[in-house]
Amino acid sequence: MFDYAPAPESRSIVDIKPSYGLFIDGDFVDGHGKSFKTISPATEEVLAEVSEADDADVDLAVKAARRAYTRVWSRMPGKERAKYLYRIARIIQERGRELAVLESLDNGKPIKESRDVDIPMVAAHFFYYAGWADKLEYSGFGAGNPRPLGVAGQVIPWNFPLLMLAWKIAPALAAGNTVVLKPAETTPLTALLFAEICQQADLPRGVVNIVTGAGDTGRTIVSHADVDKVAFTGSTEVGKAIARAVAGTDKKVTLELGGKAANIVFDDAPVDQAVEGIVTGIFFNQGHVCCAGSRLLVQESVADEVLERLKRRMGTLRVGDPLDKNTDIGAINSAEQLAKIRELSDIGEQEGAGRWSPACDLPKNGFWFPPTVFTGVSQAHRIAREEIFGPVLSVLTFRTPAEAVEKANNTPYGLSAGVWTEKGSRILWMADQLRAGVVWANTFNKFDPSSPFGGYKESGYGREGGRHGLEGYLR
Ligand code: NAD
Repeated sequence: MFDYAPAPESRSIVDIKPSYGLFIDGDFVDGHGKSFKTISPATEEVLAEVSEADDADVDLAVKAARRAYTRVWSRMPGKERAKYLYRIARIIQERGRELAVLESLDNGKPIKESRDVDIPMVAAHFFYYAGWADKLEYSGFGAGNPRPLGVAGQVIPWNFPLLMLAWKIAPALAAGNTVVLKPAETTPLTALLFAEICQQADLPRGVVNIVTGAGDTGRTIVSHADVDKVAFTGSTEVGKAIARAVAGTDKKVTLELGGKAANIVFDDAPVDQAVEGIVTGIFFNQGHVCCAGSRLLVQESVADEVLERLKRRMGTLRVGDPLDKNTDIGAINSAEQLAKIRELSDIGEQEGAGRWSPACDLPKNGFWFPPTVFTGVSQAHRIAREEIFGPVLSVLTFRTPAEAVEKANNTPYGLSAGVWTEKGSRILWMADQLRAGVVWANTFNKFDPSSPFGGYKESGYGREGGRHGLEGYLR
């Protein structure tokens, strides 16, 4: 595993404190409740002790957000709000290396992804929405002068901790709302560093509140009577529980949930490019990606060739130390997630699919899973239907475009899909037929702050990104 010359990013550039309080009303305060440890999934080393916000803490955070909303933020002209968002964006860029190292330590993702993808995208989101803050009037949002909703309660997952925070906080603040955000319990640290950045940017107190904790804290936020808007990204199971919890209230809700995307390769696809797209689609971020291309649908006539090239490429992927700049696949985020990936992979084998991984010497400590492909998968197999959320690809074949569409749509999810073909007309036809919020053509996992993102069916409702992302925060 570590037999190549390691070039680790220095962890000494981050100053991790032994313990963290909650960020409420502009200050770090001790919580009333218990605390929990956040660990590095690559080594199982304890990184820090973090407060677990209880009902009283959440209530303080919501009250602070309400005060800031009423007295300051909703009254501030958009161009003033924009100045704060631009300032935050610039500080994120300036402290980018620090944020990237901290993200890789807490999450397990490779430094080249946190440094070159996550953190630049975080800054880009704040820049993008800063640009909207003074342009909401007469831009087609409702009648003339749209108003913010109030206090937004935001709950996010662990796979892109800071990027999911940016997707939530940037549009909310641009539109004039204040927020109480809870990061996932396994990845709280970059959200807490973001809280420091809010202080550094002189953001008015209470506009952003960060409360750490697990599902109970999240439940308290979403059901708090003074929260006007609930924005959730996470599993479909929890998303459904939240939809039930807010039913009958006047809270606005957006849900960004799971996926089981089909990456569809036709026989006229540029094969090398498609293989790179398959690899990015499922192995980027250890496959901990809601829109991961976790089902490869490949046309029968080219299936052998594509699979052979794919396996060869998988053999070049380096699994290991997230801080090593050469690492392609980092650690699985938690023991719990690793157990889930192992269980579903074992089920795949028991159901008769062929399992293959390249020879891969995994580190002893920490949570690891090799890049894995299952061939001979049928639609009835659980690995063809359930979200594995790990570096595991299920391969199915098809003969005709209609069969590809039928198989791609045969899932309760509808978040994303990829189509690989030389034919423009086929791309347009497929995009029309596929029940997915995003369809990539001859590429995969491409994002831009100006593009809306979100799902159909059990992948949730509402859109984030672009002007659509603002609509969820305006009335
Ligand atoms: P999860 O649903 O277990 O947890 C997400 C967040 O919700 C965490 O902060 C958790 O503490 C909190 N939570 C748990 N129970 C809660 C409850 N009852 N009420 C309120 N909050 C609660 O999901 P996860 O395992 O952290 O994330 C992985 C899932 O997220 C995958 O299914 C993935 O597809 C999905 N995801 C979707 C998108 C998208 O944009 N559609 C993006 C990233 C991840």
